[in-house]
Amino acid sequence: MKFATKLIHGGQTIDPRTGALGIPIHQTSTFRQQSVDNFGKYDYARSDNPSREALEEAIALLEGGTRGFAFASGMAAITSTLLIFSAGDHLVVCDDVYGGTYRALTGVFSRLGITSTFVDATSVEAIAAAIRPETKGIYLETPSNPLLKVTDLRAVAELARARGIVTLVDNTFMTPYLQRPLDLGCDIVLHSGTKFLSGHSDVICGFAVVRDTELGNRIRYIQNGFGAILGPQDSFLAQRGLKTLKIRMDQSQQSTIKIVQWLGEQKQVRAVHYPGLASHPGHAVHNAQADGPGAVFSFELDSFETTKRLLEGARLSAFAVSLGGVESIISYPARMSHASVPPDERTRKGITDTLVRLSVGLEDADDLIADMAQAMGV
Ligand SMILES: *Cc1c(COP(=O)(O)O)cnc(C)c1O
Repeated sequence: MKFATKLIHGGQTIDPRTGALGIPIHQTSTFRQQSVDNFGKYDYARSDNPSREALEEAIALLEGGTRGFAFASGMAAITSTLLIFSAGDHLVVCDDVYGGTYRALTGVFSRLGITSTFVDATSVEAIAAAIRPETKGIYLETPSNPLLKVTDLRAVAELARARGIVTLVDNTFMTPYLQRPLDLGCDIVLHSGTKFLSGHSDVICGFAVVRDTELGNRIRYIQNGFGAILGPQDSFLAQRGLKTLKIRMDQSQQSTIKIVQWLGEQKQVRAVHYPGLASHPGHAVHNAQADGPGAVFSFELDSFETTKRLLEGARLSAFAVSLGGVESIISYPARMSHASVPPDERTRKGITDTLVRLSVGLEDADDLIADMAQAMGV
């Protein structure tokens, strides 16, 4: 099955009991048992719920994994998965990792004795140099947020595999439609399903997907034990959104290419960061590992005044945190996604006060361009 067909017909998409074209919302906490000797497949809904299970099978299938897990948020997926590591373990992490992940690693996991070294992951040599005898995981995002920096996933996975290190990739920006890290040799894919996968800015959810069954058993143990599971209503919403992933991504990406081109011609725009541009330093690596540049990019404006005018004056793009919805979302990384990164650290990483990120939704690209033009005063 091709990707578009998998989205509609892969996994459980029809209710086995009624034939309904959709998995019902099993709003229950527990399941009646028939036999003292033999409990049924479902006993308590933290452990398993058919609504969540259908969604977990869908994401596993799309990422090419053996097992998928749905969590209450992207952060719940990320932090639960990081609990496969133990005190004394060390992680190598891309230096522009999602702000929430940075906060969890430096504010919580560090207290538990799981330490991290942050490196410029565009350089495989820098990653290799940061590996210590106690390094157990390499944690990546590519393209990263908000500068769309690209990491060579095949090269890192090879490096990690040879040393018995687990490679984790937050694939939120790309989704399995555009990039499948497990196929490239990585071990764990993580998602904020809140973004493109659900796609309608109406649910918070997260996923972890693995290829290796032993790793799957470890994450399953944590998912059940720590209980940061996705509820049945949100599972239903996420699965409904997921069905249109391809067509949403195709349209948003097409509009993104048009908007990026227009921005590149404006005198107020100093730089555009988008892996679809031939001038982007990660262009070739990205093209070799992904099927498209996606629908999120960032750009640098000439002054704080222009930045403020655009953020406050845009009427079609919502000035908000988040991304990946049907609505375009314009955001300000320095004070939003990366607000929890200390200011000097932020500046060092290139997340300046004139950097704007845009997630392109499903509005007409010309309308979005006209709106940005009026806001910036072009
Ligand atoms: C939003 C986001 C997260 C966190 O996900 P939540 O669903 O908000 O908990 C993690 N990684 C990336 C890249 C994100 O964009």
